[in-house]
Amino acid sequence: PASPPPPHVAMLVTPGMGHLIPLAELAKRLASRHGATATLITFASTASATQRAFLSSLPPAVSSLSLPPVDLSDLPRGAAIETLMSEECARSVPALTDILLGLKRTTGRLAAFVADLFGADSFDAARDAGVDRRYLFIPSNLHVLTLILHLPELDASVPGEFRDLAEPLRLPGCVPIPGPDVLMPLQDKTNPCYKWMVHHGSKYREADAILVNSFDAVEPGPAKILRQPAPWRPVVYPIGPLIQADTGGSKNDAACLEWLDRQPDRSVIFVSFGSGGALPTEQMRELALGLELSGQRFLWVVRSPSDEGAVNDNYYDAESKKDPFAYLPEGFVERTKEVGLVVPSWAPQIKVLAHRATGGFLTHCGWNSVLESLVHGVPMVAWPLYAEQRQNAVMLSAEGVGAAIRVPESKGREKIAAAVRELMEGEGSGAAVRAKVAELQKAAAEGLQEGGAAAAALAEVVEKWTGGEN
Ligand code: UDP
Repeated sequence: PASPPPPHVAMLVTPGMGHLIPLAELAKRLASRHGATATLITFASTASATQRAFLSSLPPAVSSLSLPPVDLSDLPRGAAIETLMSEECARSVPALTDILLGLKRTTGRLAAFVADLFGADSFDAARDAGVDRRYLFIPSNLHVLTLILHLPELDASVPGEFRDLAEPLRLPGCVPIPGPDVLMPLQDKTNPCYKWMVHHGSKYREADAILVNSFDAVEPGPAKILRQPAPWRPVVYPIGPLIQADTGGSKNDAACLEWLDRQPDRSVIFVSFGSGGALPTEQMRELALGLELSGQRFLWVVRSPSDEGAVNDNYYDAESKKDPFAYLPEGFVERTKEVGLVVPSWAPQIKVLAHRATGGFLTHCGWNSVLESLVHGVPMVAWPLYAEQRQNAVMLSAEGVGAAIRVPESKGREKIAAAVRELMEGEGSGAAVRAKVAELQKAAAEGLQEGGAAAAALAEVVEKWTGGEN
């Protein structure tokens, strides 16, 4: 019999490079390993230059199109980013239905629809368009997924705010999460974003299956639980770590890499807070002085402080609005010029993490950054900011898998210097973290090889798409 045609997959990407990058990577992997083609569907609000350049660099098997703009002007100023994404998605359902109907016609057969973590309302569009297989992709981890899946019950059973919980939150298989470290959009139940997250928690159950960009070794507890089917939730496939193979050229590339070329092996700590993160002025100052005090070499991507705008003001566009160097302590750049390099706004993170001179990463614990660090065997100092970063920091540090040292809440220069020094050359917790990360690097690579756990999970999914199953 003739083999079935390679599947075409439509993927809805909610705003943020942190969602686009891993979904695009999934599309590329489906194309290269399984002969599939994919269409990435983006929202009009994220049509930034960074995103356009990224989309145009994808291979021909992965095409993209943008939804028409929707009016969000009735939402209050300062609405949470999770609310904006969820509203934009819910309001785009009619337009998305038309797009999916169009894709069904042009591609002959739409094998599946994949939405990401804030896009579950789009399942309505897929259903209306008659797309049978509706999958969810979590660009974050199994701890986050476990929490969101349990939210409808937690909403009923946890009185008051999470941050006031006397005991850490215990979920099946998960590292206990202290109340204040629980997912940021759940921290104020009067904020509409809380209701949205609970809503997503029930909507997730409509998925035929859930793909997660994580792997067993980094969170063995929830992996063990979620790998078992359960009647109340979809099947879960850990398919990661999917990270970008390489980043395109940008203006800071050459400067960073040439500088790294001149540094000894594993001597530099890379300091970066993701695509949108910025620190309050005071913490930015302490970080500068802490790095200086640590005596370690550093490469720091600086952004204008967050009190000069909302914490994730830069989220939709990575360029910092003002000159970030103006906020550094007086004389800092001059005093540290022999050991440090400070670059504005953006660095080629993957190339930096892959460089032999990089020996540590002070990170905001955005999940893509964490995976990129583990894939390249770079141990971390955790300095979480928002979203799910605080609970990521918990599961990564000593309470969890032990791949990071967390900077104490006070964020004073001495504490920062101590954490950085311990990570880079300490013989106590630093040595343990460095060894653990080497182990995780190996496990990550093995999973993605032919026959490895992540590769096998994805192959199983594709088999369902090309066969008759959901
Ligand atoms: N990134 C980069 N250069 C930078 C900052 C970020 O290349 O200066 C990339 C990084 O490699 C990662 C993504 O942007 O792939 C950030 O995603 P993450 O989930 O870590 O954090 P988010 O941006 O969502 O907070």
